[in-house]
Amino acid sequence: MEHIWAPWRMEYVEVMGKEEGCILCDKPKQGNDAANYILYRGDKNFIIMNAYPYNPGHLMIVPYRHVASLEELTAEELREHFEVVRRSVRLLKQVFNPDGFNIGINLGKVAGAGIEKHLHTHIVPRWQADTNFMPVIANTKVIPEAMAKTYKKLKGAASNLWSV
Ligand SMILES: [Zn+2]
Repeated sequence: MEHIWAPWRMEYVEVMGKEEGCILCDKPKQGNDAANYILYRGDKNFIIMNAYPYNPGHLMIVPYRHVASLEELTAEELREHFEVVRRSVRLLKQVFNPDGFNIGINLGKVAGAGIEKHLHTHIVPRWQADTNFMPVIANTKVIPEAMAKTYKKLKGAASNLWSV
């Protein structure tokens, strides 16, 4: 992951340090899924695009419940969590045809968790040459535009996939 140059992540680190409350609790409650890049709502978990992506299509699978560790998830939350992970991989394969994926959970700040109090699974699609897949842009304003485009693409494809 360190090999992807994503300078806009610096802003993320700064923003997250100041943020009050929990962004992963707040976003689904706002009822504005498109603006918040929420792609899918399951019974127990939702999919949100990472606003400071390592790569296009960087998704996070998140339980609605504010829990910090895997042990706190109920069996049903856990089952659905990884079902949604599986479907997200299928979705990303269909839409972006990546060469591989990084899928992971950071538990605790020391492990690199940006939002350490609310468990989430990252899915980052990878391409052979993805260090320069996304043209590196110092101007972070370009990211929201790219995000909106990616959201539209994934959202369109997602509607077909959940019924499979
Ligand atoms: Zn939370």
